[in-house]
Amino acid sequence: MPHTSAATVAVLGSANMDLVAYVPVAPARGETVTGRDFRTGPGGKGTNQAIAAALAGGRVTMIGAVGDDDFGPRLRAALTERGVDTTGLRTVPGPSGTAHIVVDDEGGNSIVVVPGANAAVTDLAPGDAARIAAAGTLLLQLELPPAAVLAGARAARAHGVRTVLTPAPVVPLPDALLDCVDLLVPNEHEAAALTGHRDPHRAGRALLERVPEVVITLGASGSIHFARGAEPVTVPAPRVRAVDTTAAGDTFVGALAVARAEGRPMPAALAWATAAAGLSVRRAGASSAMPTRAEIDAAAG
Ligand code: ADP
Repeated sequence: MPHTSAATVAVLGSANMDLVAYVPVAPARGETVTGRDFRTGPGGKGTNQAIAAALAGGRVTMIGAVGDDDFGPRLRAALTERGVDTTGLRTVPGPSGTAHIVVDDEGGNSIVVVPGANAAVTDLAPGDAARIAAAGTLLLQLELPPAAVLAGARAARAHGVRTVLTPAPVVPLPDALLDCVDLLVPNEHEAAALTGHRDPHRAGRALLERVPEVVITLGASGSIHFARGAEPVTVPAPRVRAVDTTAAGDTFVGALAVARAEGRPMPAALAWATAAAGLSVRRAGASSAMPTRAEIDAAAG
């Protein structure tokens, strides 16, 4: 499939409203504590990757669902404000997906995710296959029902669209899904859970038996690229003062997808995505911390 210079990216994934309470110490069972602050913001891996790719310069369309509650329009607006097309984002009866996050003074967090409308995405809706077919790249994660993820991957494969899967939250991956995946991007914990190998080099080699290309992200240590028939390549991360690593991986994947879809070779694309993720960890927040294309270009040098 030839790539055009403008990256077109479809994202089939989750949309959650993040509801974040900042507390000195998280409450124990049965306890009530008074928080210091409260923030809301768009979240969910699908939404995060869509926003990251759009800010990185891609033409992005989001496929998924929000509820008919107050959060639905806010999630839609958060995407459209950043240029993401949301005609494939359905509104379904009931609550939107929500993530209830408690952050304590040590930066530790506990999270309850209620899938809400995301759980209604059990298959592709009319028009979704055409949206995927019109894109050069499809980004998938595992926060939607598995049947929908598989249907999206199959539609991409049928139309020659490159598929990038972030295997989070990590679950055993069926061959039927991996057979349709071009690039798998787990973090080191997900890679270990998928393969039983804590050593990322061993995990990467094992994953290459199931998909043709793998990038394992290693937090502050960067990432490792694995491709069949090639030596693994380690990409160091910039040394930055990390304030908040939320959605670093989603920033990385969004930028990587755009760079690859523009036809940049993998080493250059990885360097650019690493610069993007490095910028995102220097600021607090999820999508609010994500860099623009100009910022990434400046940081990537
Ligand atoms: P996830 O957010 O999915 O857990 P990682 O923590 O591995 O993924 O981070 C993804 C990418 O973000 C890394 O490969 C790296 O490029 C960048 N990154 C994450 N944490 C840092 C950090 N502390 N300093 C610099 N870059 C970071």
